[in-house]
Amino acid sequence: MNIHEYQAKAVLKTFGVPVSRGVAIFKPEEAAAAAKELGGPLWVVKSQIHAGGRGKGKFKEPAAGDKGGVRLAKSVEEVETYAAQMLGNTLVTVQTGPAGKVVHRLYIEEGSDIEKELYLSMLVDRSTSRIAFVVSTEGGMDIEAVAHDTPEKIVSFSIDPATGIMPHHGRTLARALGLKGDLAKQAGELATQLYTAFVAKDMTMLEINPLIVTKDGKLRCLDAKIAFEGNSLYRHPDVVALRDLTEEDEKEIEASKYDLSYVALDGTIGCMVNGAGLAMATMDIIKLYGEEPANFLDVGGGASKEKVTAAFKIITADPNVKGILINIFGGIMKCDVLAEGVIAAVKEVGLNVPLVVRLEGTNVEKGKAIINASGLNVISADDLDDAAQKIVSAVRGK
Ligand code: ADP
Ligand code: MG
Repeated sequence: MNIHEYQAKAVLKTFGVPVSRGVAIFKPEEAAAAAKELGGPLWVVKSQIHAGGRGKGKFKEPAAGDKGGVRLAKSVEEVETYAAQMLGNTLVTVQTGPAGKVVHRLYIEEGSDIEKELYLSMLVDRSTSRIAFVVSTEGGMDIEAVAHDTPEKIVSFSIDPATGIMPHHGRTLARALGLKGDLAKQAGELATQLYTAFVAKDMTMLEINPLIVTKDGKLRCLDAKIAFEGNSLYRHPDVVALRDLTEEDEKEIEASKYDLSYVALDGTIGCMVNGAGLAMATMDIIKLYGEEPANFLDVGGGASKEKVTAAFKIITADPNVKGILINIFGGIMKCDVLAEGVIAAVKEVGLNVPLVVRLEGTNVEKGKAIINASGLNVISADDLDDAAQKIVSAVRGK
């Protein structure tokens, strides 16, 4: 689960992490009061969307245009102007995709005097089974370019969970960031605070870019991005409360209500499959035959008729779907249950695109008989290869 920058900073602040003062707003009318509360003389108006690259982003509406989703303001009036331009406008960044994201919230923050921008992130490194720090002296808006062109400028080290964070990690961090004296001491404190927060809140990723050195010699987190482990959310109701559903795909929200593993994609072939491995194989073979899947969907092992119906509705609600491929290997899942679910869903929502069904396994004959008796216009397939070829030619109108 992801949260906004201002929420991430509030979480980190409770662990003592140095962040700037700021006020989140939802309406342009709130901008002046927020700016006055902070006092100035420098403010930053920051678009809150679940995507990075905001500073270099472009708005779709010409008013704010290509000035970016993070703007420095030198007066209360400027804060108001930028807030009015950004709220409700669509921001396109390298991370949002061409459709962009609508800005519904802003963070008005006090401006910092920046001496240097550094990079710091933390993640769970699966190869070492440890939490790793990834840091660089080259922070700011182009870390991807640094990673690509000068990878030697990126330093990483991991923390042994048996010892936890130790003073030598702080020294390693300071050395990697080129910090000395009091700044090195601050880096040590920051390492401990961030590691403690990361573990306590079950984060999977934390990125501070930039981490800055201010002109008066202080370390400060100027941007913050946090992702939390979905499977641990049950122990963090405070984190769940930060969820912003407007940032999530509606189809994925609906799928999560039925405990379906669903991820929306950009292609044209809707897939309903049981088992993550089979779902991946199905997506691969669709690509092999030259089309793209519209989604990943694993209905799970013991899916009920209700679950299958919900899954089918989610697939057909996607306007990009030009054909549907149902690929079920009945193990725990029974083919006749699947068939009943599909028929119930079609009766409810109709079927306006070609449907290819490949059934195999438990109760396969019963399942096929139910579908044949339904009078539905279903193209049946014998195996995965046959199914993929049939749905690809069906969406191509052959
Ligand atoms: P993004 O990474 O999405 O572009 P950031 O929060 O990193 O957004 O902001 C982009 C840049 O704007 C930063 O690298 C920094 O130079 C500047 N910036 C952000 N917040 C402040 C602030 N409070 N004071 C001064 N400059 C800021
Ligand atoms: Mg940033």
